[in-house]
Amino acid sequence: MDSNESSTGQKLKVLHVSPEMAPLSKVGGLADVADSLPRALRYAGVDARVVTPAYGGVLDRVHDLGWNLSDTRKMLRIAMNWEVFTARIWKASSGDHVIYLLEQEELFSDKSIYRENLDLKGLLPFAFLSLAALELTRTLPFSPDVIHLHDWGTSLTSTAMKWHPYFSGFAGKFKTVFTIHNLAHQGLIPPDFLQPLGLHKAFHINGLEFYGMANLVKGAIIDSDAITTVSPTYSHEIQSPDAGMGLDGLIRSHSWKLRGILNGLDMDYWDPSTDPALEINFDSSSLSLRKDFQDTFIGESGLDDSPGPLIGSVGRLYLQKGMDIMIPAIRPLIHEGFRFIFLGSGDPYFEGELMQLSREFPGRIRVTLGYDESLAHKIYGSSDMFIMPSLFEPCGLSQLIALRYGAVPIVRETGGLSDTIVDVHGDPEGYGYLFHDYSSHAIIQTCLRALADFHDPSKWENIVLKGMKKDFSWNNSAMEYVKLYRHITGLAGHETG
Ligand code: ADP
Repeated sequence: MDSNESSTGQKLKVLHVSPEMAPLSKVGGLADVADSLPRALRYAGVDARVVTPAYGGVLDRVHDLGWNLSDTRKMLRIAMNWEVFTARIWKASSGDHVIYLLEQEELFSDKSIYRENLDLKGLLPFAFLSLAALELTRTLPFSPDVIHLHDWGTSLTSTAMKWHPYFSGFAGKFKTVFTIHNLAHQGLIPPDFLQPLGLHKAFHINGLEFYGMANLVKGAIIDSDAITTVSPTYSHEIQSPDAGMGLDGLIRSHSWKLRGILNGLDMDYWDPSTDPALEINFDSSSLSLRKDFQDTFIGESGLDDSPGPLIGSVGRLYLQKGMDIMIPAIRPLIHEGFRFIFLGSGDPYFEGELMQLSREFPGRIRVTLGYDESLAHKIYGSSDMFIMPSLFEPCGLSQLIALRYGAVPIVRETGGLSDTIVDVHGDPEGYGYLFHDYSSHAIIQTCLRALADFHDPSKWENIVLKGMKKDFSWNNSAMEYVKLYRHITGLAGHETG
């Protein structure tokens, strides 16, 4: 019997619901997880599939990637806001990775995925995806044991199974898992948006009601069969007022069904020895090639050729990422000989401050605003150090990518950063630098600690190599999810891993 067949001889079947999935659509780490977790589950013997929107250009992207794309010839019809919205279901596959893409031009035309203001128009795409996930199980010959929901944008699935006049008919057909990738985004809406969604009955204290607003994440916490967060530390942090974002009390009272499972990395995609974005490939046995790549990249990017270390940063430029303490630390660190390369977009204030610094110190700091997948890979592959001074970090994938690409992480001790990085000075097996205080001073002190080690080439090489050899693949974490699915469904199986 296959390792993940149940006692009835059937594979465990899981449908992942996500508003973004790499490499078809991506804003942040959720997209990476929506692609790599189902792949890892497949590898572990689970029939894991994904449903996600076909935003403009996504079907072409599938084609460009050389994936299979077929029209299932099935349509989904969802009544919302006194209208019937119809989507065509496409089936994309890459190897045995199966993705259902919902083509709905009116709802899924906005490539930016998330809007600044969650008005009713902005909510409808997420409501549609959440409800379509249920309807899909009736439309296609795929009947999951578990529906796995990712973040606030899909949280209405479990709410609808309880409170919607039609979708409550799905109750009992499968179990639901709700993963909190970032509790800062809760889907707060005025209660009168619920009526057009058929969910007005959910507005009360044991439902979505939250200080007079409707809170979509609150509903999923109450109504899902299991809740997970993307690192063990974050699962504890969100139970305290500091990181609970107003939901800590509710989460504490549901902690019996909460688990923290660390995100993994897709080790095939993030592999510096084969990465097509790097002009020179390397691995831990060929660090001199990494140096060659770094020299080429620094030359092309217009940064000064100097003996000081290059610090990289790839990510959203928001307060969560510690930009308010990062920016004041840059000037003093440049004077200490550091160079910087930033890629990201976000808060216009932080974007402006970074651009100002790049004008003030051309050659010492290069800033690219926007999203650039290829440049991100080059930054991971060429930086000596990679900085993440996050205020909070549910898991963080960038530090894991940096490790694999030989850039030594300098991170604040919070959430998944604490779970994944071990300090060089606290442990002989350490491969990064951690700081606790949320301050520019702590960033500067920690970078100076790293600088002292950087100037000792054999010590530094040792640190780089330890990081590159760490295994942050999905192997262990995917098995944690398999155990969770089995636990909530009661379906038996044998562990592999
Ligand atoms: P978050 O999900 O909070 O944004 P993570 O560290 O979990 O942060 O994941 C970020 C992912 O998004 C990484 O794969 C990172 O390389 C990628 N990324 C973030 N910003 C950009 C950007 N501007 N260009 C390219 N990739 C980016």
